[in-house]
Amino acid sequence: MKEVIKKINFKVLSVSFAVFLLIALLCISIFSEDKTDQSLAKKVSVSAMAVSDDYSESSDVKGFTDSKIKLSLKSSINGFTLEYTAVQNSTNYEVYRKTESETEYTLVASTDKTEYLDETVKSGETYVYEVKAVLNQDESHINGVYSNKVEKKFVKFDKNKKMVALTFDDGPDKYTSAILKCLDKYDAHATFFVLGSQVKKFKSDVKNAYSIGCEIGSHTYDHINLTLLSKKGIKKQINKTDDLLEDIIGHGATLVRPPYGYVNSNVKKLVNKPIITWNVDTRDWQTKSEKSTYKNVMKEVSDGDIILMHDIHEPTKNAVLKIIPELKKQGYQIVTVSEMAEYKGITLKNGKVYREFN
Ligand code: ZN
Repeated sequence: MKEVIKKINFKVLSVSFAVFLLIALLCISIFSEDKTDQSLAKKVSVSAMAVSDDYSESSDVKGFTDSKIKLSLKSSINGFTLEYTAVQNSTNYEVYRKTESETEYTLVASTDKTEYLDETVKSGETYVYEVKAVLNQDESHINGVYSNKVEKKFVKFDKNKKMVALTFDDGPDKYTSAILKCLDKYDAHATFFVLGSQVKKFKSDVKNAYSIGCEIGSHTYDHINLTLLSKKGIKKQINKTDDLLEDIIGHGATLVRPPYGYVNSNVKKLVNKPIITWNVDTRDWQTKSEKSTYKNVMKEVSDGDIILMHDIHEPTKNAVLKIIPELKKQGYQIVTVSEMAEYKGITLKNGKVYREFN
């Protein structure tokens, strides 16, 4: 009997000791979290002060995860539209801009809105933007928080001249960077319908494509026939790719090209973006021939066309390096799908299929 009582006592003791240990651990973890938060706040306040004194020093707000304001940029006929997230207690937002050759940022706008259209940009010039939310001074001396930086080249097109949209599926891949270099050289834009699974491996190409003014569309995550998927499955393919893109360029894909061009009513409803197919098929994936890819484009091209190619094949890359200068020589403006729609006065609608703008 005594032994049983002893045993029970020992059990009670060890259980209460375990509970005590747990509470102690919890306290320590809460306390240390507090400490980290405090030191972080101090760091932000110091960096904000330093940057406000001399704007040529860049803020320590790097990447989207650490940024207090999320800035994204869209190109339009009239210039760049900047959109940024609101900051609580902010009195106004200051838009800073610099060109590639400038070392210091210039204040281009001070506004209480969370959207700004910069119409003073010049064609062929690359700009870097950063937005600061101005806060009232308080004891911690935080007088502003900064957004991520966004770099983009502006190219102005003429709506009265003929235009064509080159589109690339299944990438990015090892040939994408050579295509980007050529596009940039000729002030040309293209639309890349990327696979989420490839985006992971070629992040810098996606960023670079966006920076030179190209458009990033979605070709799903796994290159899957969307019409065979459940509603949940379709959404997953789109959202997973968008999440990856958001981390790299600040927003998800603007357009969707379903693999194989397969679309049904569920796909139209659930992708929630304009659906872009094509009217000129180079069949580059089949021929894997530089000559026939080049010929197929130059033989069929006309104003308002959407041309399908794949930046995962070397012969396609080689053909594109010749197609771009030749199209320019023939007076074509090489634009993104969204630019072509806008310049031709078409408002793209979510869930609607477009195959050309003739
Ligand atoms: Zn494809």
